[in-house]
Amino acid sequence: MSLINDTQKKIKDREVSARDAVKEYLNVIKEKDSEIHAYLDINEEEAMMQADSVDSKVDNGEDIGLLGGVTIAVKDNILARGFKCTAGSKMLENYRAPYDATVIRKLREAGAIILGKTNLDEFAMGSSTENSAYGPTKNPCDLSRVPGGSSGGSAAAVAAGMCALSLGSDTGGSIRQPAAFCGTVGFKPTYGAVSRYGLIAMASSLDQIGPIGASVDDVKAVFNVIRGKDKLDATSFDMDFRSDKESAKRFEDPISELSEKIKDLRVGVPKEYFGKGIDDKVKEAVERAIKKYEENGVKVEEVSLPHTEYGLAVYYIIMPSEVSANLARYDGIRYGQRAKADSLFDTYEETRRYGFGEEVRRRIMLGTHTLSSGYYDAYYLKAQKVRVLIKQDFVNVFSKVDVIMTPATPSVPFKFGDKSKDPVLMYLSDVFTVGASLAGLPAITLPCDWVKEGGSELPISFQIIGREGGDFEILEIAKLYENL
Ligand code: GLN
Repeated sequence: MSLINDTQKKIKDREVSARDAVKEYLNVIKEKDSEIHAYLDINEEEAMMQADSVDSKVDNGEDIGLLGGVTIAVKDNILARGFKCTAGSKMLENYRAPYDATVIRKLREAGAIILGKTNLDEFAMGSSTENSAYGPTKNPCDLSRVPGGSSGGSAAAVAAGMCALSLGSDTGGSIRQPAAFCGTVGFKPTYGAVSRYGLIAMASSLDQIGPIGASVDDVKAVFNVIRGKDKLDATSFDMDFRSDKESAKRFEDPISELSEKIKDLRVGVPKEYFGKGIDDKVKEAVERAIKKYEENGVKVEEVSLPHTEYGLAVYYIIMPSEVSANLARYDGIRYGQRAKADSLFDTYEETRRYGFGEEVRRRIMLGTHTLSSGYYDAYYLKAQKVRVLIKQDFVNVFSKVDVIMTPATPSVPFKFGDKSKDPVLMYLSDVFTVGASLAGLPAITLPCDWVKEGGSELPISFQIIGREGGDFEILEIAKLYENL
């Protein structure tokens, strides 16, 4: 199933106009979003103008572009000209983006219609959107539960049918975990595959923009539009260097049989991802998903990523260190809020005390500590060394297998308030996603089962991690699952 293909076909065949298609999404937003609260800013007028320009292209027989007429919601830490960009923080309450992020420019050029900006944990720090200064987003599958985070608004918007696709950002799991909690598909590309220009920085060595959608085909189509080297982001690159060219090739052949495609495919299942702390329901569902591949001829073998147990500790040292440096710019002088105070120092202090929420302040303090002289070697440098070991684990395993399969999250979506009082408990929900982030690897999460709990159906998802640059390979392998 591909929403993008469906929409485009209908628009090109004049079964529906882009204007009506957009109106329909806006109606769903009106009907549902007062309860779900996925959006922070919507620009109906601009969406209509964009729709009209798609329709006039259809009238003139012109190409409507790869994403012509496709409605996209954007996480509110990615700049889209004309829209607010709050990063879920009071600090940027009245900030309006003066320019487009590279991904937004590319989406617009491809004909996509930017519907609005979506809610997130403040500065993308969190796993539930409970840290947004503008109130939490609710999970469309069960309104008493969190949608995950930090891209909770983007995942909820897709799940509730309030846009066709959305963009999120992923530093330690913020695309994959909310996508998993809302029963959608979330894709974090290889670090550098998509430009970060215009993304409000959280932890720059980890941040990556990616799509959330209703199907693998949809996220692939958006990835294809937004990827590529950008001279405005020195860490970005073109996919051509792809190390897995040969192994990915077989997936590109549209006519070959399924059995042909998965012949010789080797899947590694890391034993460290199925141990303590994972819900039995989740474990069993993910094992069943992997079994399905196996029953269709894929070779599945157990592998080991021995440094997995240090992943969270390493992430929660490196990430706050970078956060403390990146967020130093919010000083009340250059942009954002400014508190009234008598001296320059008091201005800094009051601005930051008022502008930042509790979790952001916690991370700035932690990061300032881990970078401070006397502690730098013990924490930051040590964490960087272990990060290399974690990366090396993946390199070793990828010499034996093509992809790795794991659970996406240790539990089904939890209830509001369940973890928000205990930051460490909250951090543990990232246990399966931080590994690929630290190693810079592409990873995708997709639903594999639904379980009944208290009258609602809750999704369980699994994760496929690929080798560096193996983005298309995991996309294709994920797509196979939809057809198994
Ligand atoms: N939940 C993780 C955190 O709180 C991941 C955040 C992210 O990927 N932006 O840091």
